[in-house]
Amino acid sequence: MQNLILNALEKAKTWARLNSPWVLHYNSGSCNGCDIELLATITPRYDVERFGVKLAGSPRHADVLIATGPVTRQSRDRLLRIYQQMPEPRYVMALGACALGGGVFHNCYNTLGGIDAFLPVDVYVPGCPPRPEAIINGVVLLLQKLKGEAVPHGEPQPA
Ligand code: SF4
Repeated sequence: MQNLILNALEKAKTWARLNSPWVLHYNSGSCNGCDIELLATITPRYDVERFGVKLAGSPRHADVLIATGPVTRQSRDRLLRIYQQMPEPRYVMALGACALGGGVFHNCYNTLGGIDAFLPVDVYVPGCPPRPEAIINGVVLLLQKLKGEAVPHGEPQPA
C-alpha cells in the first residue's frame, strides 16, 4: 500500500515537472546580451509560459538551471552552490556561445571556460546571443529529455 502511494506521488511529481518546469536563471559572467534575450522569451510576445515554464525565485524550487555567460573565477563557487541547492532530478541549459565554451571571453585571464566544465549540461543553445526562438527550441528539447525521449545531438538549432 505504501509503495502504491509513493509511486502515485512520484508519477504526480513527474507530471507536474513535465507540464510546468520551473527555471532558475543565473548569469555566471555574461555581457547581459543573453540575459536580455531570455527575458524577452518570457514576455507575452514569445510567451514561453505556454509550455508551463515559470521563473523560480530560489534554487530550492527550480527544476532547470539556465546559465548564461562564461564561468568567471568569481562566479564559479556560486554557480556550484546554486546547483547543489536544487532538488534532484535537476537539469542544466547552457545559453549562448559564452556558456557553451567561453565565447568571446575564451582564454580571458578571469574566465574558466563554459558551463560544462563544471556542471553536466543537458541542453546547449548556441548563438551570440541566441534569439528567443532558439531559446524556445532549447526548452522544447529539454522537455523531450524530461519525457525520456531521445534528444537529437549535434543538430543545428536556430541561432
Ligand atoms: S554569447 Fe554573446 S550575448 Fe551571450 S554573453 Fe556571450 S558575448 Fe554576450
